Amino acid sequence: MAYAEADSPLDTLNPHCGRPPAEADAAIAAVLTALRKHLGLDVGFISEFLPDRRRIRFVTADATQTVVCPGMEIPLSEGYCQRIVDGRLPELMADASLVPEATAIEFTASVPVGVHLGVPIRLASGELYGTLCCFGPMPRPDLRPRDLEVMRAFAEILAGPLSASRAAEMIRNRDRAVIEGALAGQAPNLVFQPIVDLLSGRALGLEGLSRFTLPPVRPPDEWFAAAEAVGLGVELELSAVRNAIALFARIPEPLYLSLNCSPALIRSGHLAAALAGTPLSRVVLEVTEHSMVDDFEQLQQALAPMRAVGVRLAMDDAGAGFSSLQHLMQLRPELIKLDLTLARVVDRDLTTRALVAALVTFANETGSQVVAEGVEDLRAARAYQELGVHGGQGYYFAHPLPLEEARRGLAQ
Ligand code: C2E
Ligand code: CA
Ligand code: CA
Repeated sequence: MAYAEADSPLDTLNPHCGRPPAEADAAIAAVLTALRKHLGLDVGFISEFLPDRRRIRFVTADATQTVVCPGMEIPLSEGYCQRIVDGRLPELMADASLVPEATAIEFTASVPVGVHLGVPIRLASGELYGTLCCFGPMPRPDLRPRDLEVMRAFAEILAGPLSASRAAEMIRNRDRAVIEGALAGQAPNLVFQPIVDLLSGRALGLEGLSRFTLPPVRPPDEWFAAAEAVGLGVELELSAVRNAIALFARIPEPLYLSLNCSPALIRSGHLAAALAGTPLSRVVLEVTEHSMVDDFEQLQQALAPMRAVGVRLAMDDAGAGFSSLQHLMQLRPELIKLDLTLARVVDRDLTTRALVAALVTFANETGSQVVAEGVEDLRAARAYQELGVHGGQGYYFAHPLPLEEARRGLAQ
């Protein structure tokens, strides 16, 4: 008898409930699954003891069971774990119905629990982490103290990774609090860097770039990566978009506003509302390819209605190794932004020049334009201009600045 039959035997962590574990926890998951299989039991789990309750951290099961799920929190006074640690329940119960203290516990009958093995997990410091448990619905008279020894060995093996996992979780919690604080304070601030026509020197548009003034000091891409890691990436990006859009009225016509957007933000469906009321023919969305691989069609679908009403698309960081020609052909961006690493060598490296020339030809023949990023000196600006690149952006023209300062720079 199993708790419930799945269509096919399912042997993953977290079956049918909760969120999948972080990648870093995969090693713990694998060890837990190996132990459960070795014992031939239906469910294995690790609980972490908190001051007054325990939290189920990892679960492995070979059938759809919803008795224990990751994230579940149970008072320490309920169930077996605290009693096992106290010695009120034996660590090995080959037949739980024969243990009076166990039969007095409600879920022995309701789950039901026929067999149960549980051992404490102690960290290297000696601190009690929680328990490692496996159970099944039927008694298992074949289980011996030797099996318990195996459990103890596994508990020792797991102590290191669990300690690391707990430390990682603390960092995530701290990061989440920082990002939530940033969102509550309406961060980020926006600075603006002009994109200029390489032939005339006139500004074509402004790229909005985020700046975070609160600690910790880190570049914007790290802020967005940290936010994404704690599930707040889209919120933080939206905050940046809203803050940029709020300044739109002060961007001189006919300049466009170029906004950085991850594929996740575009797919979220929140972008259109954030852009509402803005002259969309003056909005460019810069998308990087770092994270778009297999969700390409979804991205195109999400972009289509916005592009239909005039929003333009820029492929950011082209030539950086992320952007594939296939993506370029499928997405057909109106703008192709050459990665700033190319600017350092474009005046002398033949391969880079060939790549730029090829992209310019592609752009000319498909009705798009190439913009070079990271133009720091006249040599790079000239080289790009000679290669037929339309726009340039970089310290040579202007640094990213608060809008009023950027405007004053444009006027000069
Ligand atoms: P990016 O979109 O490729 O932005 C260009 C980066 O190059 C900016 O760095 C800009 O300040 C920098 N830069 C401009 N001119 C030059 C130059 O001449 N030389 C050099 N070496 N660098 C130059 P920043 O502002 O630190 O932003 C870094 C990245 O963070 C951005 O790369 C973008 O991926 C991300 N980011 C910034 N703001 C936002 C935002 O509001 N939303 C999202 N999703 N990402 C953002
Ligand atoms: Ca960009
Ligand atoms: Ca870029």
